[in-house]
Amino acid sequence: MKLLDNILDYNEKFVADKKYEAFETTKFPNKKAVILTCMDTRLLELLPKAMNVSNGDVKIVKNAGALVTHPFGSIMRSLLVAVYQLQAKEVMVIGHHDCGMSGMKSDIMLDEMRKRGIEDTIFETLNYSGINVDEWLHGFDNVTDSVAHSVDVIKKHPLMPSDVPVHGLVIDPATGKLDLVINGYDA
Ligand SMILES: [Zn+2]
Repeated sequence: MKLLDNILDYNEKFVADKKYEAFETTKFPNKKAVILTCMDTRLLELLPKAMNVSNGDVKIVKNAGALVTHPFGSIMRSLLVAVYQLQAKEVMVIGHHDCGMSGMKSDIMLDEMRKRGIEDTIFETLNYSGINVDEWLHGFDNVTDSVAHSVDVIKKHPLMPSDVPVHGLVIDPATGKLDLVINGYDA
């Protein structure tokens, strides 16, 4: 059976058996925080468990690398919505060791794109349009520096209230151990 069919099959039973009852909560985070972290599969359950957060406790925003790449992109917008509309009173940026975006060489990904049928003329057109795909795909070299940089962008954002602490942490995807990079209460 294909994945989607498998999921839909399971879902029918999940709803019929009222398994959702264990997860009932509201859209407002009990712990009044929003977390920005990586989409890494190892963090899916490990990160909330290692932080003692459950359904309803926090807002979680995810992307590849836990990066704020643009001050007016969708990640920053999500953090601002959490603060202004959803009662989040603090922000936590949580990068992790062994991240796929760490030391990511964009040329390898560009080669993969070519192999999958993306023509060179596409890259040329994008370049002419002012989009540097190579730069856009680039990850980061050091996770601690990357987390500190994202914290800085969020903290200094012109639309972020100055009384919102912004913390920076790095998690070990094997053990769940958190290392503090920036304590937002000190800032
Ligand atoms: Zn990652």
